[in-house]
Order: sequence, then C-alpha cells, then structure tokens
Amino acid sequence: IKRGLLGRCPHCGKGKLFRAFVKSVDKCEVCGEELHHHRADDLPAYLVIVIVGHIVVGSFMAVEAATTLSTWQHALIWVPLTIILAVALLQPVKGA
Ligand SMILES: [Zn+2]
Repeated sequence: IKRGLLGRCPHCGKGKLFRAFVKSVDKCEVCGEELHHHRADDLPAYLVIVIVGHIVVGSFMAVEAATTLSTWQHALIWVPLTIILAVALLQPVKGA
C-alpha cells in the first residue's frame, strides 16, 4: 500500500506505477512485474469522495461554528479545497 501511495511498483518499489494521471503501466520497467491485470474500477474515486468529504465537511463545520463567514466566503474556501484535494488524492489512492 505504501509503495502504491508513492506511485511505485508494488513488487520492487522502484519502477513507476502510472504512465499518465490514473493510467497504470502494463508492466514495471525495472523488474518486469505485470500490472495490467490489476483493475481498480471506481473504488479509488469512491474512497477519495469519502476522504475528501470527511476533511471538507468536518473543517467546514468547525469553521462555521467558530466564525461568522458569509456564504460566498465559505464557497471561496471549500470549493477550491474540495477540487484540489480530490485531484491530489486520486492517483495515490488508486496506487494504494
Ligand atoms: Zn517493479
């Protein structure tokens, strides 16, 4: 899981796991481990939704309870944070 989170081959830990954002390589360029048959389907996206949802909704509720920000101020904080976290976590979660 740790090697996958880092985008590295699960067998040797040196070769790259992805050739594009979420496209995995067919086999490891270092050790030759075949990786084409490991299909994640939609699970990484579901896990990212759960993780980001807990971070963003929990943070929103804490900030909302402690401050008096307007709706627009909340939107300017939480919408970009949600997009950034989702994009940043998708590849590591798929690798894991
Ligand atoms: Zn390898």
